[in-house]
Amino acid sequence: MKYLKRSWAVVDLDCLEHNVNNLRRLTKPRTKIMAAVKADAYGHGDKYIADRLARLGVDWFGVSCLDEAISLRTHGIFQPVLIFGVTPVEYVSELAKYNLTQTIVSHEYARSLSEAAKESKVCVQGHIKLDTGMSRLGFVLTGGDMEPALDEVEQACSYENIRIHGIYTHFSCADEPGGDSEEFTRGQFDLFMRALEGLKFRGREFGLRHCSNSAATISYPEMHLDMIRPGIALYGLNPSRELAGKIDLQPIMGLYSSISLVKEIDEGVPVSYGRKYTAHRRMKVATVPIGYADGYVRELTNKARMLVRGRIANVIGRVCMDQLMLDVTHIEGVCEGDTVTIVGTDGRHTLTFDEMADLSASFNYEKVCLLGKRVPRIYRYHGEEIGMVGLLDN
Ligand SMILES: *Cc1c(COP(=O)(O)O)cnc(C)c1O
Repeated sequence: MKYLKRSWAVVDLDCLEHNVNNLRRLTKPRTKIMAAVKADAYGHGDKYIADRLARLGVDWFGVSCLDEAISLRTHGIFQPVLIFGVTPVEYVSELAKYNLTQTIVSHEYARSLSEAAKESKVCVQGHIKLDTGMSRLGFVLTGGDMEPALDEVEQACSYENIRIHGIYTHFSCADEPGGDSEEFTRGQFDLFMRALEGLKFRGREFGLRHCSNSAATISYPEMHLDMIRPGIALYGLNPSRELAGKIDLQPIMGLYSSISLVKEIDEGVPVSYGRKYTAHRRMKVATVPIGYADGYVRELTNKARMLVRGRIANVIGRVCMDQLMLDVTHIEGVCEGDTVTIVGTDGRHTLTFDEMADLSASFNYEKVCLLGKRVPRIYRYHGEEIGMVGLLDN
């Protein structure tokens, strides 16, 4: 497969399969799986990821907004899709046309969505969202007396042009096991279950009750209910440091670049913008075409490491928009065109998005999501390159 070998990401769909199978092993056979593929499948590319997940029998897909949902439909995904965010009601006919499920975040929203649906002569499907402690979206249950909120949920369920077939909540700290956070998560779950009881008492039952992100899927099997909603774990990354190793996950993405120029510089010569690094002796320096426009953030200046010919090379000087420099003084035979491993394994060493995140006051979710559009994603399956998505495909 031909692609511009500037900087590129390789996504291994066999590893995706491994992760899905291991997540599935944690749940009961009848528990459904909603794959969170928002933000272009966490930067991995929704087209190939969703296609493979659909073939693996994932039941639902979760996205953040209408355009992401339509993108899935355009790629031939016909499974149910839940939009986690609020869709402006003037897009009600798109929701219906693409057979999407909208999150219902308040009574007010349900009413205006229903009115818009009536006007457009359509019917939309919805899942009720309950706010059990995240304070982001949903009917607020955290105020002590939950009856007023349940009244509102009941009304939201009674509009003709909205069909409600699910209900969910979202945890704020399921990724921090033990202590306060565990207590808080159990409190959120308890609130959710009590709300379901209250609604049942009012004659409202929901076919799909769900609340578990990756962290809760791993740590709290009793909270899986009818469906789990893993995101980060699908991609083989840990929801948090504390949960690392609790389940066998394989990172599905590697990141690579190739050296564009090798040169020698004298002692005292500065490297890159702002002269934040100065050669302390005669040095061999490699220029690598990746920068902050590719998601390789400037915070990594003088901190990060890459692999060249199986050896570690330090990033020296500021990360530029499109390029950066590596110290390769100690590496024999470095050539222009040599592959640079930014995330992945070369020889004895493995570099991870976790390490990159630690060095830039970030976390793995952000690292993969921020990987730039300019970096082509190459897809491997059963040892072969089966496709790519690059800048020119968008
Ligand atoms: C992103 C998201 C998920 C998945 O979360 P992970 O931590 O990546 O597993 C699940 N549910 C909702 C509502 C989300 O927004």
